[in-house]
Amino acid sequence: MPKREAVEIMCPKCKRTAIVYFPMEELPKCDGCGIRMVIRELLREGKSY
Ligand SMILES: [Zn+2]
Repeated sequence: MPKREAVEIMCPKCKRTAIVYFPMEELPKCDGCGIRMVIRELLREGKSY
């Protein structure tokens, strides 16, 4: 079973956050703004970019 990464994403406009699991096809859009959310932080333990 492939390991999936939990990634926190954030809407750059309204700052709404969500957790998604990579790999995925594409980042979801903000429910409120309808714009593409961006990766805020990689939550994998001990690894920083
Ligand atoms: Zn938004």
